[in-house]
Amino acid sequence: MAVEEFRLCGCCRPQKGPEPQTVHLLERVAMRVLLVEDDPMIGESVQQGVRQDGFAVDWVQDGEAAELVLRTTAYALVLLDLGLPRKNGLEVLTTLRRTGQAIPVLILTARDAVADRVQGLDSGADDYLVKPFAIEELTARMRALLRRQCGRAEPLLTYGDLMLNPATHQVMWRGAEVALASREFAVLQALLERPGAVLSRAQLEERLYGWNEEVASNAVEVHIHHLRQKLEPALIRTVRGIGYMVLKMP
Ligand code: CA
Repeated sequence: MAVEEFRLCGCCRPQKGPEPQTVHLLERVAMRVLLVEDDPMIGESVQQGVRQDGFAVDWVQDGEAAELVLRTTAYALVLLDLGLPRKNGLEVLTTLRRTGQAIPVLILTARDAVADRVQGLDSGADDYLVKPFAIEELTARMRALLRRQCGRAEPLLTYGDLMLNPATHQVMWRGAEVALASREFAVLQALLERPGAVLSRAQLEERLYGWNEEVASNAVEVHIHHLRQKLEPALIRTVRGIGYMVLKMP
């Protein structure tokens, strides 16, 4: 199969030398999220809970740090506290929208800050959650926002005989349930969200792993290998020198 048959984004085009990091801004990575929260206890528990749900999470604790990483890293979604040192959440949000970034933003606010929440939504936030909240509700809202961003209203991802439920991480293949590790699931979800698009190894790694997680150089290949074993060898195509894809359904 010729490479030219695929619609390639900036990330996927073969190029000499190291891949420039900025090209990833063109392609949102669907599972990596940024948490902006200055309270260490809330930050710790949100990071842990959201990770358990299969997201890769980067955590910063002030508004300036948030702006910096948002300029250089592609995130699928931002969890934004409003009361932050150095620059408050509303300012971060306003800058984000002023620079044309449509990334979904979910505000995390204190119970008594109704005016802030209203202002947040009016400034371009997509949703909010009042502290204290249950992690299950947070991750459910995150999934809903990500679904909407992919243009999907239904919670299940289907591809031929394959069905994925991002809420439960359940996978059905030809009517039978298949057990996948959480990163195998994430790789499969990334590919099925955009049939016909090639995702590079770097894009998949960025989606799967946060800053402080070690990534083995062959991690993505190993996940792909397991997926092919557990499902169907021909399901995931390797586009040599570029990345991986599933074909568009005819
Ligand atoms: Ca705060």
